[in-house]
Amino acid sequence: MNEIILCKYGEIVLKGANKKFFEDMLCRQLKDRAKKHGHFEITRAQSTIYIKPLDGDCDLDGMFDSAMHTFGIAAVSRAAVCEKNLDDIKRVAREYIPDFLENCRTFKVEGKRSDKHFPYNSMDLSQIVGGEILSAMNGKIKVDVHHPDVVVKVEIRETAAYLHAGQFKGAGGMPIGSAGNGLVLLSGGIDSPVAAYMMSKRGLHIEAVHFESFPYTSELAREKVIDLARKVAAYSGDIYVHVISLTHIQEEIARNCEEDYFTLLLRRYMMTIASKVAEKHKCRCLITGESLGQVASQTLEAITVTENAASLPILRPCIGMDKEEIVTIARKIDTFEKSIEPYEDCCTVFTPRHPRTKPELSKVLVQEQKLDFDALVEEALATEYTIKAEAEI
Ligand code: ATP
Ligand code: MG
Repeated sequence: MNEIILCKYGEIVLKGANKKFFEDMLCRQLKDRAKKHGHFEITRAQSTIYIKPLDGDCDLDGMFDSAMHTFGIAAVSRAAVCEKNLDDIKRVAREYIPDFLENCRTFKVEGKRSDKHFPYNSMDLSQIVGGEILSAMNGKIKVDVHHPDVVVKVEIRETAAYLHAGQFKGAGGMPIGSAGNGLVLLSGGIDSPVAAYMMSKRGLHIEAVHFESFPYTSELAREKVIDLARKVAAYSGDIYVHVISLTHIQEEIARNCEEDYFTLLLRRYMMTIASKVAEKHKCRCLITGESLGQVASQTLEAITVTENAASLPILRPCIGMDKEEIVTIARKIDTFEKSIEPYEDCCTVFTPRHPRTKPELSKVLVQEQKLDFDALVEEALATEYTIKAEAEI
């Protein structure tokens, strides 16, 4: 049986005159992903992308998984290719479709004929194919045209006919890169990998900056962050993680400033440094996992103070989400178990006992002026080194 993968676009179909730009981008990305899985031909027609294996060595399951992780695709299905004659269509209906209906009680068939020269119309096709499936399954399944468990589709296109049963919901969103580049501040926590995934889903190409504070934070903490980036990369594509040391900055803050302000001061350094890293790597925004009110440094007042130190817009996709909602996404993208591994983050060393929850910028600046801010920023930037987190899918 010749099998192919069909991908339906999501939001792209609404893009009017720009549609082709997005379609080209999406096809390029699928071609790129396909390289890992063998020789495939990728074409498109009528808001559908066809992924066809060109030889027996192709890993169709791997390619299917890749397509399911590709933003811009709303639905993915496997389809059998048949010749455009009724005998072959019936044969495929009997031999190919029943496996997809194993655990279902009801189905219906939808016929679609884009080649109007084909002698049977959509209604005929639905009835003929439905009859074949019913007899092949020996009464184990019934037709329900209103609320079927599975919809079987027969599509008669220009060059071939396709039969498929059951679509899987794709990753949705917009093709990566269609919204430009963004730099995510990636910690080892639960929220920032989710934030990276969410903005990548909206079409941002993602790079990451991670702040460490060796020896207060460990080698293992850094590896954890790279592992998290790799998991996000299954959706976003490979992620360059720029690692920056904040050790000296944290020591200087701890030595010179009032304890209540430690976290706020540190976060202002993070925002300034991240803005500079972003500019260097041509990223036009910062992304954080902040959620309003989650911790002392995420009250509106604290966010105002830290945002003031950034020179780029900060996107915070988790800002209005409960922890539970964030965790649901973390589980879906398989970052949760990794995120809860217990390693120190630079935010958890030198933490104040009584952090300010309603800080005033002027008072924070008084503390900040005790240090040579610019020199410390430059020194930290010089510690940058980059690790590529490669997608496994
Ligand atoms: P997360 O679960 O993402 O770590 P959090 O709830 O622990 O978030 P904070 O520690 O206050 O919250 O961090 C808020 C945001 O600041 C994080 O979501 C992340 O974007 C950024 N951030 C915090 N620590 C680091 C770090 N070590 N390196 C890079 N970014 C960081
Ligand atoms: Mg954290």
